[in-house]
Amino acid sequence: METPARLTVDLGRLDEGRHEHLKGALSRIFLEVDDLEQLRPEGDVEYDLQCELLGDELLVRGTLQLACACICSRCGQTYHTKFVEKAYCESFEIAGTEILDLTESVREGIILALPSYPICKEDCKGICFHCGQDLNERTCSCAKGEGNSPWDALDGWMA
Ligand SMILES: [Zn+2]
Ligand SMILES: [Zn+2]
Repeated sequence: METPARLTVDLGRLDEGRHEHLKGALSRIFLEVDDLEQLRPEGDVEYDLQCELLGDELLVRGTLQLACACICSRCGQTYHTKFVEKAYCESFEIAGTEILDLTESVREGIILALPSYPICKEDCKGICFHCGQDLNERTCSCAKGEGNSPWDALDGWMA
């Protein structure tokens, strides 16, 4: 079965004060992934949301997740990870609405959870600007003694 490209809530199925639990997957196609140069979504957007009717508003809260292949901003290596928005929370006006479309809001929610500059690991050392060596694999000889790294100046200052 194809993953749905839209997420909607049928308000006719909700009674006043009743909660509805939405859990499933939403096609990643709706993300317009070309905008995200260093990130390539690899799976569907997984959602686990609680809906709660409060007067004429529907409160929707929960978790969004998306698996991506990323290019590290420091070392240029491709890595795979899952981005999670744990605190998605949005309220929707429901006056005069029968079917509420959450797609656009969920899209914004998951995009906000994606970093502008993905980094493969917190302490990624990046690549040497002089020789291009990936410094996670081994150190190069040009890193020392030239004073070109901002850390060198800092080291001198700390000493
Ligand atoms: Zn890296
Ligand atoms: Zn080097």
